[in-house]
Amino acid sequence: MKILITGGAGFIGSHLADAYMQRGDEVFLLDDLSTGTIENIEHLKGNAAFHYTIDSVHNRPVVAELVDRCDVIYHLAAAVGVQLIVESPVNTIETNVHGTEVVLEQAAKKGKRVLLTSTSEVYGLSDDVPFREDGNLVLGASTKGRWSYACSKLLDEFLALAYFREKKLPVVVVRLFNTVGPRQTGRYGMVIPRFVQQALANEPITVFGDGQQSRCFGFVGDVVEALVALTDREDAAGEVFNIGSTQEVTIRALAETVKRMTKSDSPIVTIPYDEAYAAGFEDMPRRVPDTSKIANFIGFRPRTDLEEILSEVIAHCRSHDGSNF
Ligand code: UDP
Repeated sequence: MKILITGGAGFIGSHLADAYMQRGDEVFLLDDLSTGTIENIEHLKGNAAFHYTIDSVHNRPVVAELVDRCDVIYHLAAAVGVQLIVESPVNTIETNVHGTEVVLEQAAKKGKRVLLTSTSEVYGLSDDVPFREDGNLVLGASTKGRWSYACSKLLDEFLALAYFREKKLPVVVVRLFNTVGPRQTGRYGMVIPRFVQQALANEPITVFGDGQQSRCFGFVGDVVEALVALTDREDAAGEVFNIGSTQEVTIRALAETVKRMTKSDSPIVTIPYDEAYAAGFEDMPRRVPDTSKIANFIGFRPRTDLEEILSEVIAHCRSHDGSNF
């Protein structure tokens, strides 16, 4: 098969490319290198079945040409990372909304299968934990920049499902919960690479807020397996799936685990949200998926627990001069 991955030089996209290359498929990447890096795909370059284009998903003729050549399109190109979103809201909204419009429009023209990656951020301030795909989505005020990310990705979901209903586009939507592993950079705020890098450098480990907020961290290898399995299923079209781990951990406990596993001397410090992000920043207190839908559909079970994930990330950082990519 021929696979197009927009955002393919990013953290998840590059692991997805690896999975398809290992299966013996032909892989085409489109990435503008805004948050992705060439290092993530360096090892694939030179392989005859691997092609990459450094350009934007806004470039309609380029997207049209790539969509034409491929059988399945994974649309991962997006502005990601809470820090980046708070700092560059215009870019976040434009990239997430316009880029998806272009990809869906071109895929619909050619009737190609699409998988759109959305985010657990769309559950927002809902306290109906664990979050189910058919549950209510509760976003904060539009004056709080953080919610522009959830809102832009939600618009993507609506657009994708509208294309499915109105134009019969075979598109599946996945909501990725915190996905982690080697190659994820801490530069845009992601907590695990940041904590591991801080611990290895014996710098303070920075817990934002009181550290009682919790997350479930899914291993990128497990998530990629689920993505591949979903596009192999034609009856996934028109559906929305949560993908992630259900092993919940507070950010304070995560900091302590990272410190213990790295045998670091780093102090664990707390930083108020206002200082870490922007005045009035609202965090999600708990983010836990209900994964029964995808478990029933493709038998998805995350196989890698938090300590195994941290061991991989720590080993990767150690072998890359303290950096996670
Ligand atoms: N966080 C933290 N210290 C950091 C970076 C993040 O305490 O250096 C917290 C952040 O406030 C959030 C959690 O870790 O509560 C997960 O943050 P991340 O940006 O990785 O993902 P999010 O779940 O917010 O999308």
